Amino acid sequence: MRSKRTEPMAQPWPGTLDHKQTVVRVRGKRLRLEQYLIAMRQALSVEKVRRQEERRAGIRLRRQVLTEEPTCRYCVAPATQVDHRLAIASGGTSERSNLAALCATCHRAKSQRERKAVRFWL
Ligand SMILES: [Zn+2]
Repeated sequence: MRSKRTEPMAQPWPGTLDHKQTVVRVRGKRLRLEQYLIAMRQALSVEKVRRQEERRAGIRLRRQVLTEEPTCRYCVAPATQVDHRLAIASGGTSERSNLAALCATCHRAKSQRERKAVRFWL
């Protein structure tokens, strides 16, 4: 069967488009390419800020957990890491109630047990 493409390479290079003249259709709306590119840039920076805030909130919460629980839940060593009691992979969340402070050794051991359990069930 022959290809339906009848005008190979008929499109101009993007750099040669006149952004003020070219009109694009986005979700049924007609926008000048210039407007569309401005909106995309704004959406991307809003998303960037949102992710940054999310990351900062995560860092704050981890710091809070380590302040509230200065010692490891399993042994008496100073806690340095924050564990998801129910792993994210098993449906756990990053809410405070699912977080626990552990030392690096216990955290590693727990994670290893969890990986083995997952392998057992798969
Ligand atoms: Zn420990």
